[in-house]
Amino acid sequence: MSKESKSLKAGIDYPKNWDQFMNCFHDEQSCLSYLKKLRWPNGFICPNCFSESVPYSLPKNKFKCVKCRKQTSVTAGTIFDKTRTPLKNWFAAVWYLTNQKNGVSALGMQRLLGLGSYQTAWTILHRLRHAMVNPERDKLSGIVEVDETFVGGIVHKTSTENQQDKTKSVVLIAIELLEPKGFGRIRLRQVDRATKKNIEQFISDVIEPNCKICTDGSQAYSSLNEMGHSRKKTVHLGSDKPAHETMPGVHRVASLLKRWLSCVGVTCVGVRSCVLPIW
Ligand SMILES: [Zn+2]
Repeated sequence: MSKESKSLKAGIDYPKNWDQFMNCFHDEQSCLSYLKKLRWPNGFICPNCFSESVPYSLPKNKFKCVKCRKQTSVTAGTIFDKTRTPLKNWFAAVWYLTNQKNGVSALGMQRLLGLGSYQTAWTILHRLRHAMVNPERDKLSGIVEVDETFVGGIVHKTSTENQQDKTKSVVLIAIELLEPKGFGRIRLRQVDRATKKNIEQFISDVIEPNCKICTDGSQAYSSLNEMGHSRKKTVHLGSDKPAHETMPGVHRVASLLKRWLSCVGVTCVGVRSCVLPIW
């Protein structure tokens, strides 16, 4: 999410419930108008020569630059480019995807939106998921919780933690804590092992300097001060408080991750620092 988009308001800049959604995006033209406002909030800019002159309007919602004469459309260069699926369906797919806690399947989306083929649903889902990862996105800031979780693998009741490690993937989690309460943005990264080096690289890549970072008592976080952060360390071993109370953010994310993975048939085992071994 960009700094600019943080100030967008639900119910004004975008619908905050399904009723508003239906009112805002009832046909193709309303969807195009919304995209146009997002793409060119201060008026048309030619993507070829950057001219800001008012373009010629052409049929099929295209524009022609008065300077370089290049034709463009509001969807050109976006995930909606050259799609034959109505934008109304695309927008409904976005709404569906961002409102499902348990994950979304292409088949579920096909059925819900009444799409003609599974392939269409799969393509929409694939493009949306790809677009949701912006490589130039801002780093997390403020107060951030960081921890690791194990996912996948086969759980045997007799397995020790070390044995479990060999069959699982490690996922690093960072989540912003908002004040006075609530959670902000999150970042996840799969790594081979939860080594000090991997964790430091993750923190360096996804968190701005000078943050307050909440961690467990692991030595892997011992260099946070040298990295320009302050550290709030919570040692769970022997503590009266369970880890999901002292580090609620990462446990919420790990829980949602577990729920989502279970939808696609992957078993998930708890956060390493969690008092409860399996949740
Ligand atoms: Zn131009």
